[in-house]
Amino acid sequence: MARQQILRAFKFALAPTQSQEAELRRHAGASRWAFNHALAAKTTAHASWRAQVAALVEAGTAEDVARKQIKIAVPRKPEVQTAWIAGRGDSRAGQDGACPWFHEVSTYCFQSAFQDADTAWKNWLDSLKGRRAGRRVGYPRFKKRGRSRDSFRIHHDVKRPGIRLATHRRLRILRLGEVRLHDSVKRLARLLARGEAVVQSVTVSRGGDRWYASVLCKVSADLPQRPTRRQAAAGVVGLDLGVTHLVALSQPADLGHGPVQLVNNPRHLAAAQVRLRRAQRALSRTQKGSARREKVKKRLSRLHEQLAVRRVGFLHQVTKRLATGFGVVAVEDLHVAGMTRSARGTVESPGRNVRQKAGLNRAILDTSPAELRRQLTYKTSWYGSTLAVLDRWFPSSKTCSACGRQNPRLTLADRVFTCVCGLTLNRDINAARNIAAHAVAVAAPVAETVAPDRGET
Ligand SMILES: [Zn+2]
Repeated sequence: MARQQILRAFKFALAPTQSQEAELRRHAGASRWAFNHALAAKTTAHASWRAQVAALVEAGTAEDVARKQIKIAVPRKPEVQTAWIAGRGDSRAGQDGACPWFHEVSTYCFQSAFQDADTAWKNWLDSLKGRRAGRRVGYPRFKKRGRSRDSFRIHHDVKRPGIRLATHRRLRILRLGEVRLHDSVKRLARLLARGEAVVQSVTVSRGGDRWYASVLCKVSADLPQRPTRRQAAAGVVGLDLGVTHLVALSQPADLGHGPVQLVNNPRHLAAAQVRLRRAQRALSRTQKGSARREKVKKRLSRLHEQLAVRRVGFLHQVTKRLATGFGVVAVEDLHVAGMTRSARGTVESPGRNVRQKAGLNRAILDTSPAELRRQLTYKTSWYGSTLAVLDRWFPSSKTCSACGRQNPRLTLADRVFTCVCGLTLNRDINAARNIAAHAVAVAAPVAETVAPDRGET
């Protein structure tokens, strides 16, 4: 065991009063405004840089030279904030400006949104330059009301706490007063009382018609340094994210309902998915602007939220079982996972040949490899196991896991891997076995890990 500091999020469902809900919406609106304001400053600078480069190229300069010659700094949080303060106005003093109403909401809304715009910009740049693993990140988009998730973040410092636990059922949030909770905060309260947790920030967000508060804390915890005897004996488990299955394992594992090797989604998830599809069809039959359409829309957003919550909950259950049950959990490189997934298709645009096979389940199956990897990264460090990653160039699905020969003729439609050596095996299990056999352990993650929490860890 070793005492370590980890970042951990505790998420609670809020039960706000009507006036508190109006206040929550106002804060979320301000946060969206601030994000868009900061992003606009960046895109404007970027557009003028592009225009000047284009003008130079037009005049005969080589493009790579022109790109280096023109220097326009994209404003980041400090610059954005300074300009904002200078031009925001103040409705209390009758001063007009970009946002004279700023004093009606917590100032942290603006600061964290400016920060988020910096992060979105950096993610896009990193992805563009190949410094970021996983799915390609597109050019940052403006947040639209009704389309983007309503949320805002309030920073917490010891001198001016953004939140406080009033009772086990009430959270005091800066500017919002005491908000009642659906869940109990006992567990967090105990950690705070013992001085084992320190609050960093609170993120308030809306999902469907529910509001949530996610309290991010620095928690000191005793983390095991090595696997238990049982974990060590179980050895390595390889994971292949599938299309027809959520995930294929190299060896059977008990994920809560007895040993399985091809992991499917539990029945309650599939049922939620059926309800969602039914509501989607009902929506398409309604008239634009009708009262019925509004009603169906509301139900649809509730079902979406329900499905998202259950999906995340199930993924947590799976990753915890794997991290506690084995000494090593082996996965594909995120680059590969992202690439093969795009070839296999996503919910929005399923790849060819995939649609029929995935059928009803395909939306549920679209578990982001990045989320699975993120959960496994911190959970292996919590439970004394190790994460191993397969080299991105290793052809895991085309290699025979018994003899190592390659079968380049294998197509996506082939669900069974056959080899001249006599091996006949489910294609995804074969891939999972290769991943288990050839993945290389990655260095233990730094002490800081972020875990969303709804009692599942
Ligand atoms: Zn073989």
